[in-house]
Amino acid sequence: MTCCSEKCPNCNYDPNNVFAKILRNEIPCKRVHETEKSLAFHDVNPRADVHVLIIPKGPYVNIYHFTRDASSQEQSDFWRCVRETTDKLELLNPGFKILVNTGPGGGQEVPHFHTHLLANK
Ligand code: AMP
Repeated sequence: MTCCSEKCPNCNYDPNNVFAKILRNEIPCKRVHETEKSLAFHDVNPRADVHVLIIPKGPYVNIYHFTRDASSQEQSDFWRCVRETTDKLELLNPGFKILVNTGPGGGQEVPHFHTHLLANK
């Protein structure tokens, strides 16, 4: 595939997106969990009893970009952070949902890869 052209959304990481600012501590967040390469925090506009966002600390636009370019260590750290967040919030029972919006057509508003972790208690 062609990549790294100006038109490639996967290579066009905007360092001024809101999650990049959270990672640089320029704006606050309600932190739930942190690992070496990932961060979990409450969504500012929750749409369930529990609505947490989990993001890698590296500059990845979406899940395609992350799974293509992030190292194995970043990827395993990310999913460990998801699991540890569910442990911390005791979500395995009754269960939870993971949602990944991707691209404008997929409803993604913030161009830094994130999973929504949703649960109703
Ligand atoms: P998406 O539409 O998948 O890109 O989701 C972006 C999510 O980020 C939305 O659910 C927003 O409510 C959430 N959001 C935007 N700004 C912040 C912020 N400063 N802190 C926490 N969550 C945020």
